[in-house]
Amino acid sequence: MQDLHDDHERYRKQSMQLTLTDIFEARRAIAGRVVRTPLLPSRFMTEQTGQPFFLKMETMQPTGAFKLRGATNAARNAPEGTTTLTCCSTGNHGRGVAYAARELGLNAVICMSSLVPQTKLDGIRALGSETRIVGNSQDDALAECRKLGQATGVFEISPFDDPYVIAGQGTIGLEILEDVPNLDTLLVPLSGGGLAAGVALAAKSINPQVRVVGLTMDRGAAMKTSIDAGRPVEVPEVASLADSLGGGIGLDNRLSFAMCRDLLDEIILVTEGEIYRAMQALYYEDSHVAEGACVVGIAAILAGKLTAPKGPVATIITGRNVDMVQFTKVMTGQDVMLGDYLLEGKPYGA
Ligand SMILES: *Cc1c(COP(=O)(O)O)cnc(C)c1O
Repeated sequence: MQDLHDDHERYRKQSMQLTLTDIFEARRAIAGRVVRTPLLPSRFMTEQTGQPFFLKMETMQPTGAFKLRGATNAARNAPEGTTTLTCCSTGNHGRGVAYAARELGLNAVICMSSLVPQTKLDGIRALGSETRIVGNSQDDALAECRKLGQATGVFEISPFDDPYVIAGQGTIGLEILEDVPNLDTLLVPLSGGGLAAGVALAAKSINPQVRVVGLTMDRGAAMKTSIDAGRPVEVPEVASLADSLGGGIGLDNRLSFAMCRDLLDEIILVTEGEIYRAMQALYYEDSHVAEGACVVGIAAILAGKLTAPKGPVATIITGRNVDMVQFTKVMTGQDVMLGDYLLEGKPYGA
């Protein structure tokens, strides 16, 4: 009992270290290096919800995903004498770190598991970074990255559990609240929770009334399982249409766990079938090419899993680095193999 209580206290204190000021500082550090993305109205989702519905188009970052924000902020705050950046990644963070390293004239070594899709691997290699494929899970990749990080001059940037990364992702929340000050509900794709932690901190610091909902797939929902358990726990990692949402939160999680626990109003889980249908909807209704990870908010609404919003809604379209072969299958209603799980396809509207 005592241990649990101490753990809780420790997490609670650390989650209070980051404030809105850190997010404003991040904005200054990344200004001109990342895109201030547009917030586009969605006609289809506005019809579905009966409220103004907006898409924050992080797909328009030069690396194709929001992770460039956190990676750039962390890279710019790397310790003196850093020559090499390293990270473990499901793909998009690696690309962000590789891009930031190139901009700053540093080397980068990106560690990934064999679950990372080829497109993401190619994108990282094209930026001139070294890549290492280790094992079948994020944890294996992380172990390799930690080992590398011991060497002098090598600086490890966590994909989600780093104050500069969280503050960098939080700049998305600032921008959304600036564009829609009367926002009611913010739907945030959730994996390691760096995005949700930063965005929720920004949004709630500006307007405590905003409802911030984390969304993820029901197979391998590490943050939800951890919050329910009261501490970070491991979950088996499985292939998903939302591949960017795979991976654990780290048993030694310092920040994102406590922040998500304290700041998120709710976490909603969606099935692969619901993600499949939402990917089709975003493409056929609004003509956006986006990863499965982006549509979890839309999926929850189409599945009737979100309590009706009372005002404007926004969701973050987090990345566009799709596996085109898989994407084409989804758009043409074909079956998709996810590891050894067969997801039965259906044409849109059928
Ligand atoms: C990393 C990522 C997420 C989730 O972000 P976390 O900070 O890990 O919760 C969502 N969508 C995309 C496209 C991502 O790359």
